[in-house]
Amino acid sequence: MQREQLMDLLTASGVLQEGHFLLSSGLHSDRYLQCAQILQHPERAEKLGREIAEKFSGEKIDLIVGPAMGGIILAYEVARSAGCRGIFTERKDGEMQLRRGFGIEPGERVLLVEDVVTTGKSAREVLQVVEKEGGKVVGISSIVDRSPADLELGVPYRPLLRVEVEVYGPEDCPLCQNGIPLKKPGSRENRE
Ligand SMILES: [Zn+2]
Repeated sequence: MQREQLMDLLTASGVLQEGHFLLSSGLHSDRYLQCAQILQHPERAEKLGREIAEKFSGEKIDLIVGPAMGGIILAYEVARSAGCRGIFTERKDGEMQLRRGFGIEPGERVLLVEDVVTTGKSAREVLQVVEKEGGKVVGISSIVDRSPADLELGVPYRPLLRVEVEVYGPEDCPLCQNGIPLKKPGSRENRE
């Protein structure tokens, strides 16, 4: 899928919202991303899974791992396309871990997937979990990459789409200065 097509699909699915948003950090932004919006459509989720699997089609992959919640459906769909298992990690007492009897065999080749990579923190945590189990991380992918340009994860990172999100402090936000109404994302009244 071309960048343009993917942008259109994400916008039409309500993933990529443009406007003036109040983030949980208190900062304001011109874009808001909600990947769950596209993953609720099985045929679209399957398509994204196929796109991600294709980015690593030259590699032997035994297992897809993604962090809960955002990585659960995605890992499953990438696994469907790659023809392998898909599992997820989750946080318990603040620590990323494998639960529910999920395991990784030593030497298994693993692709990590996440809905959005922002700081790379959770991707690194999943990577550590996999390596601790003896798995070999072949690479990382995500639907959207909005990380800093200098992000270094130590393995190949091949996202589907890079999106720049401008973030401002409330006191010097140009959107506020232009009188654009501030929305709190995620609340029902913002749904179309
Ligand atoms: Zn603002």
